[in-house]
Amino acid sequence: MLIAANWKMYKGPRETREFLDRFVPPDGVDVVICPAYTSLHAAVESGRTVYAQNVHWAEEGAFTGEVSAAMLVELGVQGSIVGHSERRQNFAETDETTARRAEAALAAGLGVIACVGETEQEREAGETEEVLRRQVGVLPRDDGLVIAYEPVWAIGTGKTATPNVAQEAHAFIRSLHDTEVLYGGSVKPDNAAELLSQPDVDGALVGGASLDVDSLTAICRAAIPS
Ligand code: PEP
Repeated sequence: MLIAANWKMYKGPRETREFLDRFVPPDGVDVVICPAYTSLHAAVESGRTVYAQNVHWAEEGAFTGEVSAAMLVELGVQGSIVGHSERRQNFAETDETTARRAEAALAAGLGVIACVGETEQEREAGETEEVLRRQVGVLPRDDGLVIAYEPVWAIGTGKTATPNVAQEAHAFIRSLHDTEVLYGGSVKPDNAAELLSQPDVDGALVGGASLDVDSLTAICRAAIPS
């Protein structure tokens, strides 16, 4: 079971150190911390597995504001999220650029958490499978790649997918791509156990609820089957 904490644009190096000094997850759960770029070094120093929140496809070049896979490797970072819906919605990320980022990261030896998921409008229009087929279809087949199913309508909204809705989408994704599938979208300590007990839910990508050490610890505990 894998629990990944997406800290988005929260926690500088000081808060990162304070959090990770206190954070003691239970045995039996793999935890990945995904801080902002400026906190990666502090997180790596803690000895935890650390992923970035994005990575560029080029080795180097005139790409202001971007960071390459080699730069992450040099820092001791072990992987990266790609294609997060906030990147797709606010920074013009596409299926194609998501795939290019994933390929470059994997080629550099990094792990990848590739995010997919439909918007509320797409779900209501009955387009969920079509959207997932398109988003998953471009992703590389590689042991280092994990998919996160993050329905856009559930991210940061407090609206969690029901365990059945999540299970259905995860089973569909797994029929397209033979890999682990994490669920993301308003996972909290009180809904984590039920979501994580679904047969095709292999872990969670947690945003808001991963910012508090007790809350992330509780979600990690919920990942251990009783
Ligand atoms: C996320 O940002 O990947 C996420 C799932 O956010 P939240 O848990 O806050 O919905």
